[in-house]
Amino acid sequence: MKTGKYGGRVVTRFPPEPNGYLHIGHAKAICLDFGIAQENAGVCHLRFDDTNPESEDVKFVESITEDVGWLGFDWGEKLFYASDYFEQLYDFAITLIEADKAYVDSQSLQDIRRRRGTVTEPGTESPYRDRSVAENLDLFRRMRAGEFQDGEHVLRAKIDMAAKNMLMRDPVLYRIRHASHYRAGDAWCIYPLYDFTHCLSDAIERVTHSLCTLEFKDNRALYDWVLNAAAIEPPRPEQTEFARLNLDYTVLSKRKLVQVVEQDLVDGWDDPRMPTIAGLRRRGVTPEAIRTFCDMIGVARVDSRVDMEKLEYAIRDDLNKKVPRVMCVLRPLKVVILNYPEDKVEELDAPHYPRDVPQEGSRKVPFTRELYIERDDFMEDPPEKFFRLAPGREVRLRHAYLVKCVDVIKDDSGEITEIHCTYDSETKSGAAPDGRKVKGTIHWVSATHSLPAQVRLYDRLFLKADPDDVADGEDFTSNLNPDSKVVLTESRIEPSVADAPPGSRYQFERQGYFVSDVVDSSRDNLMFNRTVGLRDTWAKITVADSAEKRERRERGGRTAREGVTKPRQRTVADDRGASPKVAALTARFAGEFGLSDEQAKALAGDPTLATLFEEAVAVHDHPKTIASWIVGEVSRRLKEGEGKGLPFTGAQVAALVTLIDDGTISRSIAKDVFAEMSERGDHPAQIVERRGLRQLSDPKTIEPLVNKLVAENPDKAAQYRAGRTGLLGFFVGQVMKESGGRANPELVKEMVEARLS
Ligand code: ATP
Ligand code: MG
Repeated sequence: MKTGKYGGRVVTRFPPEPNGYLHIGHAKAICLDFGIAQENAGVCHLRFDDTNPESEDVKFVESITEDVGWLGFDWGEKLFYASDYFEQLYDFAITLIEADKAYVDSQSLQDIRRRRGTVTEPGTESPYRDRSVAENLDLFRRMRAGEFQDGEHVLRAKIDMAAKNMLMRDPVLYRIRHASHYRAGDAWCIYPLYDFTHCLSDAIERVTHSLCTLEFKDNRALYDWVLNAAAIEPPRPEQTEFARLNLDYTVLSKRKLVQVVEQDLVDGWDDPRMPTIAGLRRRGVTPEAIRTFCDMIGVARVDSRVDMEKLEYAIRDDLNKKVPRVMCVLRPLKVVILNYPEDKVEELDAPHYPRDVPQEGSRKVPFTRELYIERDDFMEDPPEKFFRLAPGREVRLRHAYLVKCVDVIKDDSGEITEIHCTYDSETKSGAAPDGRKVKGTIHWVSATHSLPAQVRLYDRLFLKADPDDVADGEDFTSNLNPDSKVVLTESRIEPSVADAPPGSRYQFERQGYFVSDVVDSSRDNLMFNRTVGLRDTWAKITVADSAEKRERRERGGRTAREGVTKPRQRTVADDRGASPKVAALTARFAGEFGLSDEQAKALAGDPTLATLFEEAVAVHDHPKTIASWIVGEVSRRLKEGEGKGLPFTGAQVAALVTLIDDGTISRSIAKDVFAEMSERGDHPAQIVERRGLRQLSDPKTIEPLVNKLVAENPDKAAQYRAGRTGLLGFFVGQVMKESGGRANPELVKEMVEARLS
């Protein structure tokens, strides 16, 4: 846009191959392709890159168009298929042959591969490389006409068998495949390859910015070579690469996703544990949350893994604002309120949203003598810090009364079957008249008026952050989490949800966010999927666990800790940085970026900080400022966050440092901005604009403040002029205060000095 290369036109494209379902990595590409077009008043095409007849299918075209639309992007009329360009692509191939830039090679594909050479040795030219243009034209036409078997000939570009870039060693452009194409049928038996098709499709559609993932970096030279050889008029489309998304605890490779589906390791492509868009949708994730997540992770050219926590944060943040709260008891335990009349039913008022969510609405919740509470919310012999129900203890039932446990009923095997309580009728949604306080509030439903429901608790699909981290002879499937799906069949939910359509989302109080399943749920058979827990229980457990271990070590004994009941497989980030690795990274940070050893070590020692740093310096080339910001503020935030992860990306840290460096905000304002960014993950520039925090650097705005202050403090001004120069600090400080901290302090100092001299 700056150079005017395309005269202000911006045309991007999202080019999926219809051979599988889209996943969250594709969502990153989609947000980028459509987002850049939107930001620049351009258009983004949806183009199916469908030149491989063997694996492509119209069912994938359908799922992909559905998913892109669901994510909130609109390609309008701009829906294209590379297979529609077969005729044009064939003509371009003829152009190349006529210009002696392509030839028909009759070696087998194996021989071609064998003679490509290695990184250190050049390849060997094909014995067919010097065929005449006429012979090449004849053979290529006959290839199209179906005169040859698969593999008998290929069309190759004539570039350079000794090229450093191996992709430039006479790459194959066309091959023979006697196969039916899902759209073109049997019209063709030669099919163009990616490197020939992609750039020319971009040129045909007059794409300006062709964005793709980093693994295509070496293909860029070929992209440009083909456009040049095909005599495409400038300005030609230009390829730019970005880092693909890798998400912890899952796999984002179509091949692997196909494998888990085909081996029945999950329940299909839209299994809620799958990282596919279809799976995330069925799990209850909103398109807004996915778009926010893609914004949060930013775009860089450094490959990195992204914490699942970031995605979960974006999901929670969006659902928190949108979905009504209801009560559902996942694992019920019966409670009888002895002093509550048997036939009485009270319809209690319960707001759908907490006070800090700007949404209205409420429902009635029936209160009866027999209730269910969560099995976990009762303990017969509780540790000190258990604030829920126990013999002789009193708790509040959410939106209802205080109840006290007076008896525990067990069956012959000693299993608790029922709890007997009394209630205090004076405490309906308010404090007890005698002022007594209880520490716990628990959720509940009426035993007689609640509805039966099944609840599917989904957890991470893999046990390891990097599922490919396996022992010899194993593959990633050995890291599958055997507990990734737990089905509860005895849950009970309040009756207010009875008539909501499948796909309705809720927060089950104290449990998490849930959605009624679009496929399996019906009025008579309610079925809910857990979208995400309330906090990150996973990180919490691991953090609590290690804190507990530390405590135990220090005290030399066992400690009990509420909430850590089930020992779990642990693979936290800390395990990843084996110390030789940390040492190597420390050395690299110190060497490459000129950081002090201390800073380099602090960054290298924590994978989250290290990744953040690399992301940030990839965007803004001020490693020292960035490092000091990350080692100081960010690491403090990380510690305070108790393992919650960071809601912002390296790109956002870079943006914040850029705002300081270019004088938009002062360092002290930057701390405010950072605090807000840490709270909500907003982009620093947005925060600055929204809150009007731009630094005041215009003398005209500062002058009145200086004048006012000097006028109000004639004595101090006189003393300063008489030599008490220490008063300078007073004046500067007051002006800064007047300006709400926004004035540029250097400028204020200069102006005060000038005014008082
Ligand atoms: P394959 O593994 O079969 O090559 P693919 O995942 O690259 O498949 P495509 O349909 O070719 O799937 O991808 C469409 C677009 O999505 C491409 O531009 C690709 O670069 C991008 N893309 C694919 N995976 C990711 C990812 N993990 N992160 C970001 N972009 C991705
Ligand atoms: Mg691909």
